[in-house]
Amino acid sequence: MTTDAASADAADRETKEAADFGFEANVEQLLELMTHSVYSERDVFLRELISNAADACEKLRYEALSDAGLAAQSETPLITISLDKDNRTLTIVDNGVGMSRDELISALGSIANSGTRAFLDRIGVEKGDAASSLIGRFGVGFYSAFMVADRVEVATRRAGSSEAWLWTSAGKGKYSIAPLDPDLAPPVGTRVTLHLNSGSDEFLDAWRIESIVHEHSGAVATPIDLIAAPGEEAKRIADGVALWTKSRTDVTDEEYADFYRQLCGQFDEPALTVHWRAEGRTEYTVLAFIPGSRPLDLFDPARKSKSKLYVRRVLISRDAELLPAWLRFVRVVVDSADVPLNVSREMAQKSPAIAAIGKAIATRILQELTKLAENEPEKFNKIWENFGAVLKEGLHEDPSRRDALFALARFASTKSDGKTRTLKDYVADLRENQTAIYYITGDDIKRLAASPQIEGFRARGVEVLLLDDSVDAFWVTSALGFDGKPFKSVTQGQADIDAIPSLEADETETPAPADTGALVAVLKETLAEYVDDVRVSTRLTESAACLVASDKGLDRQLARLLAEHGQPAMLGKAVLEINARHPAVAMLSTTLAAKGRDGATDAMFLLLDLARVADGEQPVDASAFVKRLGALIARGV
Ligand code: ADP
Ligand code: MG
Repeated sequence: MTTDAASADAADRETKEAADFGFEANVEQLLELMTHSVYSERDVFLRELISNAADACEKLRYEALSDAGLAAQSETPLITISLDKDNRTLTIVDNGVGMSRDELISALGSIANSGTRAFLDRIGVEKGDAASSLIGRFGVGFYSAFMVADRVEVATRRAGSSEAWLWTSAGKGKYSIAPLDPDLAPPVGTRVTLHLNSGSDEFLDAWRIESIVHEHSGAVATPIDLIAAPGEEAKRIADGVALWTKSRTDVTDEEYADFYRQLCGQFDEPALTVHWRAEGRTEYTVLAFIPGSRPLDLFDPARKSKSKLYVRRVLISRDAELLPAWLRFVRVVVDSADVPLNVSREMAQKSPAIAAIGKAIATRILQELTKLAENEPEKFNKIWENFGAVLKEGLHEDPSRRDALFALARFASTKSDGKTRTLKDYVADLRENQTAIYYITGDDIKRLAASPQIEGFRARGVEVLLLDDSVDAFWVTSALGFDGKPFKSVTQGQADIDAIPSLEADETETPAPADTGALVAVLKETLAEYVDDVRVSTRLTESAACLVASDKGLDRQLARLLAEHGQPAMLGKAVLEINARHPAVAMLSTTLAAKGRDGATDAMFLLLDLARVADGEQPVDASAFVKRLGALIARGV
């Protein structure tokens, strides 16, 4: 025998014999937590196992589409839960797709579930009870069985295969896989047997199981039977009628919420539920949810929307990209009768019928949001708070939706006073001679509100939008304007607000401007390395100085964001604007006249550093700044 043949033979024998395996390290960590869990809502294990069984049934239906052999074997999908008090077991059987030996190893030996991984990341931070209270929020999948069982057996047969396998584990670092006499395995699918631990008697009680199923899994699209004791007759406890196929009036809010939790892996209430049937050229049913809180993957760089696409109740894809990225937080189930059943997952994505459905769903979602904003502003504001930053990506990416999105957009501004403003509110409040919609971008609303650059606008009663999401720096440059008014950054170029009258109250208090001609020239020379230009400001009223972008330059926040993303060239030198009416500037002029340039240098640098700090930047030279400030204090101020 050649060595190759010998090792192939050994490999073959290996896969035919029982073998022990160690769990992947992070599974061990998870199991440790499960077996010691004091989590009070341990009943989530049932929801997880039922959802796996239902998934397996859907997978088999999909595979049977293209495999006549499987189609012949597969039965009507069914999940059966059996209780056995004497043996202290709870068993869940499904007639789904089953698992091969390799699939068992990868599915039940490592972390398959992204929710589980996110959970593990979180418990790195939280400890003890805090960690176990998170279990229900993340849906930790199969391994949650070890909260209630001290031994778990999985007997399974991959659809289309004659071999069957038995996976066993006590949840302590190891599991084993052994071939199973096919007569002892389910004819199709998987049987999960939990040997309940001593604290889990409640899960042997048929009434308790029925109520858990109603509470958590009532909307699962596979019927569920319960056998209360060995030999007893099966009782149907969930009808398995897919929720979206029911009429809206036949579904309770609680059923919608329950379905939403399973679909989205969220454990709160949906903020908006939309359910409709479209009739016309293409017929389809849609059930869409906007989550009540931000999903974990909201800012995932892949930015993909994930919808569940069914064709006549057969799940074709669980992550179809039906909606644009700026609606990726909306979770959708679509069931269409007008897409060919035999399309592959990839083809279905590209089909024009599907693309048209995606467009129609986006339109409908925007309509529903508009309605909600009018009728239930508080609910709408909550949605905007969670997802506004994502919706605003659409302003930049999808000009055809811009008007609809502008109507929804809510902003903080110098006039919002803790509430929010719409662009309509803004233009209704324009000041005399005001020709633009002014904004300032940054990452901290409080600092934006305190920016020196907006002082002159405030003094004239001109509203400034305070934009603190990164996406804001982008859409303002591409969105042209609203209601004929262009968007204009208050930190860029000359402030063109001279024509707008000041509010009277301020006028009387402002001192006359100092003569700053000589000062501006010397500042320009002294600070040439750091600033592009120095000029007397029209936008400052209270602060002594500020930085703005030059007329040709990019808005400073946008330039900063681009610099962070590898385009440092965009961050040009700024213009220093000084306030000729400010006592510090007047004093600097006097010092310059009395002591000459050298005598005023420290103060000139301090003025620049002041403006930089107000802009969220470091002084040009931190140690020099510290010395100058120290010297100033020493002089007795
Ligand atoms: P998830 O369901 O999110 O993938 P789980 O931890 O619940 O994560 O399950 C892990 C994997 O185990 C599943 O993805 C699936 O491949 C497999 N699995 C679990 N239960 C079954 C079952 N009853 N039938 C077939 N495969 C199953
Ligand atoms: Mg699962």
